[in-house]
Amino acid sequence: MERVNEDGSTFLQEGDTVTDRSVTAEQLGGFLIAVFEEWVRRDVGRVFVRHFDAALANWAGAPPGSCVSSETCGQALALEHNGDLYSCDHYVEPRNLLGNIRQTHMIELVASDRQRRFGQAKLESLPRYCWECEVRFACHGGCPKNRFVETLDGEPGLNYLCAGYKMFFKHVDPPMRMMADLLRQGQAPAEIMTDYTGADRCRGIQFDRAGRNEPCPCGSGLKFKRCHGRSNALAGQPGQPQNRSGS
Ligand code: SF4
Ligand code: SF4
Repeated sequence: MERVNEDGSTFLQEGDTVTDRSVTAEQLGGFLIAVFEEWVRRDVGRVFVRHFDAALANWAGAPPGSCVSSETCGQALALEHNGDLYSCDHYVEPRNLLGNIRQTHMIELVASDRQRRFGQAKLESLPRYCWECEVRFACHGGCPKNRFVETLDGEPGLNYLCAGYKMFFKHVDPPMRMMADLLRQGQAPAEIMTDYTGADRCRGIQFDRAGRNEPCPCGSGLKFKRCHGRSNALAGQPGQPQNRSGS
């Protein structure tokens, strides 16, 4: 997701226009859900997806380990080859230049009031719409670099990807609660894979009855043929043919 500036460049976090190759919020949401639905059935504890790990941490009340998923940020600074230190690697632009470590000790710059305010602004600049959002505890408004659209009532500062985040976090609420409960009981979140695939039938998710052009039963919003209907997408799930080649 990248913003395009008035002169056609993409150097500054300015304006509200994105490049043609940027993902839409709905595309991101659908993508995250489709990947999650694969992961939660087959790969928990084997494949680590930062966005999912951070979400689970937020559901479990632990530090998410990702600035984007945290309430505040400001600990992901960027150091250039010439010693220039910037507030964040998404903000390597003149107004976020903290200083140069050849003139000022890096610790001074990292611990400066200016950098503290940068990180605190992630929380303090949230629009009311986010404060009232039921998934704020997991989303925290996303990265400030993407907050350049208005809420429905005209308040600035909403994340361009909001609709996708909301789709994703609402969709994963039940399995995240299950995994957080497992953690609290001292069990591995991977235990969910057995329950989740078994629960597919209870929830009436029947991949074998979905038409190729119908919405995928997993709820991703994608067509079945582009989601769980892809060849091999269901291999290894209960009631589905096993991939015996090991590939
Ligand atoms: S989902 Fe949207 S409204 Fe909710 S916290 Fe995230 S950006 Fe804000
Ligand atoms: S601005 Fe975005 S990428 Fe940079 S530290 Fe904050 S949340 Fe992370």
